[in-house]
Amino acid sequence: MSTIKQLHKKLINKDITSLELTQKYFDKIEEKEKDLNAFISLSKKEAFKQAEKVDENLKKGKEIDLISGIPCALKDIICVKGGKTTAGSKMLENYTASYDATVTKKLKEKNAVIVGKTNCDEFACGSSTENSAFGITKNSYDLTRVPGGSSGGSAVAVASSEVAWALGTDTGGSVRQPASFCGIVGLKPTYGRISRYGVIAYASSLDQVGIMTKTTEDAAIVLTRIAGRDELDATSAHSSGRVYEDYLTGDLKGKKIGIPREYISDNLDDAIKNRFFEAVDKYKKCGAEIVDISLPNTEYALATYYIIAPAELSSNLARFDGVKYGTYPEKKDFKNIQDFYKEVRGEGFGAEIKRRVMIGTYTLSSGYYDAYYKKAQKVRGLIRKDFEEAYRKVDYIFTPTTPETAFKIGAKSDPVTSYLSDIYTITANLAGVPAISHPIGTIETDGIDLPIGGQLFGEWFDEEGILNASHTFEKNF
Ligand code: GLN
Repeated sequence: MSTIKQLHKKLINKDITSLELTQKYFDKIEEKEKDLNAFISLSKKEAFKQAEKVDENLKKGKEIDLISGIPCALKDIICVKGGKTTAGSKMLENYTASYDATVTKKLKEKNAVIVGKTNCDEFACGSSTENSAFGITKNSYDLTRVPGGSSGGSAVAVASSEVAWALGTDTGGSVRQPASFCGIVGLKPTYGRISRYGVIAYASSLDQVGIMTKTTEDAAIVLTRIAGRDELDATSAHSSGRVYEDYLTGDLKGKKIGIPREYISDNLDDAIKNRFFEAVDKYKKCGAEIVDISLPNTEYALATYYIIAPAELSSNLARFDGVKYGTYPEKKDFKNIQDFYKEVRGEGFGAEIKRRVMIGTYTLSSGYYDAYYKKAQKVRGLIRKDFEEAYRKVDYIFTPTTPETAFKIGAKSDPVTSYLSDIYTITANLAGVPAISHPIGTIETDGIDLPIGGQLFGEWFDEEGILNASHTFEKNF
């Protein structure tokens, strides 16, 4: 397993060139993709061009950034100029982005080598990457299981070393849940920490770009390079200017970690509970004080999320009408404009998107807006308040990331069962706090050791705090 710093060292010591490194990763992709299907598209030409640039800089004796020359991947919901960006949807099968997302631009400026775009649930709606128009991505631990979602392609690409690291997006857990299922680190920063410009919107008040890596230090390194205020995203926050990797002291003394009792219900699987409390003990050994806390409105989080997210989705996806965006239909004889939209949207969207557009349109319609959407916003306020209260007592909050390990492909065809996958992750998006999932061990299932993650919530804009806690855990065990 190579971390960003290890690869960087090899590059500057001239043990390997960026071109060779890039080729090595493409070889790995070639070998594994027929089984995994983690990618929707590859950008070989551009990747090698970028690698060549890095090698030239190295030859000239120039200093290169930590992420320069190292292969990475982006979830196919993040725009890369001149490349396809499908959002996992048939609707955007032929869409070519005309500009770079701000995160893409920042990565290109640092000469990161973007090898391709990863598979995801359509418009990031899902928890298994089964809702993609481009096939299912398989979990590299067990090919009969899902990798989680919606950023399942990114998770598998990192877990199986097809790339050194990847970006995903997290609206309700889409970075952390697949990280838990694939045994890697997944960071969802505070809402606003990273620009969303050029990231196809799902639920704008919840969406955040997330980072998927093998180690916490790698996540910190990538965050430093993509965080910050962006004039093109009014919701982006002013830059902290922090070099996050410099905050990884490995010391947790004096820090208080809260365990919310609502997350450890009697229904929680015993195996998960055991792993989780072993992890709590490890945190204790790292010097943290463990405190029992309550987040009393947790039970309303799932219902609140599944009103707000579809409402915002129904509005954001209105642009995919075959005129502004979306595939123009082959059929030509339309009775009227409704007939045209029906054809385009009926053909272009998958079942889960149609379901959410209907739910969202319903909850926003006059007569129901107050009863559903407005009420959900009020409850969202209460959930945020729970976190404010908790942070008066503790520095971080620790929970299991998921109530289960990776499930079998096809096991959750009923949407509500699938929505339950997000039970521990969505509160961070509703409250806007940063959260990280890191591996806490494995659980034997059908003779295979499947990974499972633990999740740390931090205070708003305290990414360095949760990164240091996660790093300390990782380093000590
Ligand atoms: N599974 C959740 C959903 O379908 C979360 C998705 C996400 O975070 N993008 O909405």
